[in-house]
Amino acid sequence: MKKLLIFCIIVIGIASCKKEARPIEVPVTSFVEPVVVPNIEYGFDLNDFSVVKDTVRDGDSFGQILFNNNVSYAKIAEIAEKIKDTFDVRRINKNKPYTILKSEDSLEQAEVFIYQKGKIDYVVVDLRDSINAYTSQLPVKYVEREVTGEIAPNSNISLALEEQGISPILAYEMSDIYAWTIDFNRLQAGDRFKVIYTEKFIDDTIYAGIDNIKAAYFEHNTEPFYAFEFETDSVKGLKDYFSEDAKNLRRAFLKAPVEYRRISSRYNLRRRIALYGNRVRPHKGTDFSAKVGTPIRATANGTVIESRRKGGNGNYVKIKHNSTYSTQYLHMSKRKSKVGDFVKQGDVIGWVGMTGNTSGPHVCYRFWKNGRQVDPFKQKLPEAEPISDSLKTKYLEFIKPLRAQLDSVQFKAKTLETFVNEKQTIQAE
Ligand SMILES: [Zn+2]
Repeated sequence: MKKLLIFCIIVIGIASCKKEARPIEVPVTSFVEPVVVPNIEYGFDLNDFSVVKDTVRDGDSFGQILFNNNVSYAKIAEIAEKIKDTFDVRRINKNKPYTILKSEDSLEQAEVFIYQKGKIDYVVVDLRDSINAYTSQLPVKYVEREVTGEIAPNSNISLALEEQGISPILAYEMSDIYAWTIDFNRLQAGDRFKVIYTEKFIDDTIYAGIDNIKAAYFEHNTEPFYAFEFETDSVKGLKDYFSEDAKNLRRAFLKAPVEYRRISSRYNLRRRIALYGNRVRPHKGTDFSAKVGTPIRATANGTVIESRRKGGNGNYVKIKHNSTYSTQYLHMSKRKSKVGDFVKQGDVIGWVGMTGNTSGPHVCYRFWKNGRQVDPFKQKLPEAEPISDSLKTKYLEFIKPLRAQLDSVQFKAKTLETFVNEKQTIQAE
């Protein structure tokens, strides 16, 4: 009897051993099945869900979107209350993309709601178990590029770049950096340049534009002009461009009071206008055409000395910067500053409009020096904040490798030809 029992135990033991051995065989068979490649987006494997991708439409609300995806109103109210510190559900905007991850079962219930609030920033509302919301960012990849170009006769920097398929934004940024050293409207044929800059890609593939120019070299009338970006205040994140001998390239004044589409009329004392019988009507301002509502910025620190609506000037603001310089901004749709206000360079003082004598939306920018109106583009204006002595050594060390890199970039032997060279890739979070 005892022997039989032991025998039985042994048999059962063997049998169960065999049973246990089986699962080991299972992966071997499943190994033959096709391997599913993970499809990761926003940190989720989309293979695990039924996925809805859409954009917020007119009249859509967070609640309605979730309700349409099988979440009850009671649950929606609970979610909204629970996540309100991270995400205000009333603040979803039309045309923004969202993704809903739903259970793959027959309930097809929304489990995760992802709202793409910006190009990079997104919000995740995880509705599973304990409701949870957080904001995150798509990975951004920076690609450093080097470009050279040469100005052809009757051409300009935008065209030199456009021929290579490079965004005109790079030309704008170059003209900003060199605004007070080189007149980009009067370039010479044979002027040439090299630029080291970075481009941004979101989620590896989406081109998100030019990030910034790290260093540039511009040969104007055979004279070299170097520019290096350098952080002068890491706390405030202030960056500026300096020359090879640490001089600030920026001046105490901004080049323009608006982000403009074009300069529609320059300072010109001999301007003739058909409208006035082709008589000379001097234009003592610089007209920057821009859309109605574009913010107008103070080009330098100063105190507002006039702010009113008057005749042909329309709504205008005048700022006194010091005993030498004042600036004036005409045809505003609305003024934002009043007499006595102290404004800093870049502060919004009003918005582009068409008040007074104007045929199209623009800001007429008038630049006063010692009580006379002059062409701001022809002034030797004071340098902006120079680099401090304590930072100067650090700066000169910092630009060494950048300058070596710039100097090693070769212009193509044949004139008028240009080339693009893709360099290295830096991965950032
Ligand atoms: Zn004007």
